[in-house]
Amino acid sequence: MHCPFCRHSDSRVIDSRTSDDGLSIRRRRQCPECGGRFSTIETASLNVIKRSGVIEPFSREKVMSGVRKACQGRPVTEGDLAVLAQTVEEAVRQTGSSQIDTNEIGLAILGPLRELDEIAYLRFASVYQAFDTLEDFESAIAQLRADHHRPASDPEE
Ligand SMILES: [Zn+2]
Repeated sequence: MHCPFCRHSDSRVIDSRTSDDGLSIRRRRQCPECGGRFSTIETASLNVIKRSGVIEPFSREKVMSGVRKACQGRPVTEGDLAVLAQTVEEAVRQTGSSQIDTNEIGLAILGPLRELDEIAYLRFASVYQAFDTLEDFESAIAQLRADHHRPASDPEE
């Protein structure tokens, strides 16, 4: 990290702080040459490999627009979508890889969307998991029902 004041090629980290959302690190640095202090914000890059093979940066907005369609007419707010997109980003970053495919994003969306709204979850899952028969819906609904009735302390879990 070059000093912005004197272009010295080294700097010393004097403070590190993780941002509130845990996705970036802000560092206070000091130049050993001129004593100048400056901050840097470091965010690990995260890229998405689309089905077409195109690689583009991860976008929370794209997650939100994908989920928004499934939430039409449901009591889900833009704020809910923003929280969901952040949860998804944190989940995929936790895998530690800098490139993920759209499939993994779809998987990361299913859990939090199910918590948010089960109808939207079924709609999203039907597209994402390519349901093509009534049985696919029936088994997804049966799974939701089974989980509702499961006691909190199921020994099998
Ligand atoms: Zn300097």
